[in-house]
Amino acid sequence: MMTHISERVQALAPSATLAMSQKSNELKAQGVDVINLSVGEPDFETPAHIKEAAKRAIDENYTFYTPVPGYMSLRKAVSEKLLKENGVSYAPEQIVVSNGAKQALCNVILATINPGDEVIIPMPAWVSYVEMVKLAGGKTVEIHADIKQEFKITPEQLEAAITPATRMILICSPSNPTGSIYSREELEALVKVLAKYPDIMVLADEIYEHINFTGSFTSMASFPEIADRTVIINGVSKAYAMTGWRIGYCAAPQWLAKAVTKLQGQYTSNASSIAQKAAEAAYTGSQECIAEMNKAFERRRDLVVKLASEIPGLKVNRPQGAFYLFPEVSAYLGKTTPDGKKIETSGDLAMYLLESGHVATVDGGAFGMEGYIRLSYATSDDNLREALRRIREALLNLK
Ligand code: PMP
Ligand code: GLU
Repeated sequence: MMTHISERVQALAPSATLAMSQKSNELKAQGVDVINLSVGEPDFETPAHIKEAAKRAIDENYTFYTPVPGYMSLRKAVSEKLLKENGVSYAPEQIVVSNGAKQALCNVILATINPGDEVIIPMPAWVSYVEMVKLAGGKTVEIHADIKQEFKITPEQLEAAITPATRMILICSPSNPTGSIYSREELEALVKVLAKYPDIMVLADEIYEHINFTGSFTSMASFPEIADRTVIINGVSKAYAMTGWRIGYCAAPQWLAKAVTKLQGQYTSNASSIAQKAAEAAYTGSQECIAEMNKAFERRRDLVVKLASEIPGLKVNRPQGAFYLFPEVSAYLGKTTPDGKKIETSGDLAMYLLESGHVATVDGGAFGMEGYIRLSYATSDDNLREALRRIREALLNLK
């Protein structure tokens, strides 16, 4: 059969996180008892008061198109949240609500990046950043920071990556896939460099803001030197256990919020009206649910760090947030499986762990860092104990 797939889409890599999760679900459907540590989403139910708000929204007929950038009441709630929690000032008109933080990110990249423009991405980084830049025709400039530097880039590395073509830096803290968090001082040092280059936009993905065990969070937009060219990405998926609702936003300079609204107006219009009302309830209602989930994530962090550290050969750090562990697995590369297959890459290892150990993880290579795997610990303590037992057994079976 004839196919007509654009070069743009042919060049795109499929999302490795979603692919691994899909594979794990397929095995489960075949009756295999797989533990899924691949996709990163809270395992908690959306809090009851948020669900009630959505039900009310339907009954009150919030069922029509909304303004493209979202209901004003929601944008006001986001604007107030940003001021109160992060000390940053974005008017409601500077906020555009989208179908998840994913679309918010893609909107901003498509609205700012021309073919050939360079976007600096500290690696390892979430799988979709590089592909979004590719969609825009931009060029990714990667800075690598491995476990020895807690996966955080230095100001020297940043400065060395900047060229006259640099248009943007994309920074994610707390980080997916590592859980690392830049302290205020570390961000300050990066900001000092960025302050010298007024043409570089700062795209700050703060979606894991609330899953943070350090007790403090600094928004990139809180530095006056770069505030007027910093775009915050955030949303309700992670903080309020609302991944399926698909509500995220960008908070951007006015000119960019307008451009993003124009773009979104042509290809998806507004995000779901009902989900927007639910998100509004999340921002204006009790915030107790966040602290409760955070407590559970911190306990699980302690558990996976302890269990993974006990596995010979795994190099593990102690992440400070999000819900990921990113152990270095290179001690197991070059080994052979019991049925005679050679494990050449961390991708081979992730596949072996799935097929033999029945634990789904994600290859570090998908995040731009070969030799590591990502474990999402957003699952029950029992699942984590069993998953780490299986990983240990499967790794020790390699010769
Ligand atoms: N940024 C990062 C770093 C993420 O891990 C995710 C996870 N999905 C997103 C953005 C997108 O989140 P959303 O579900 O709101 O699209
Ligand atoms: N962000 C999550 C992850 O990294 C969800 C899946 C995705 O959108 O990539 O697993």
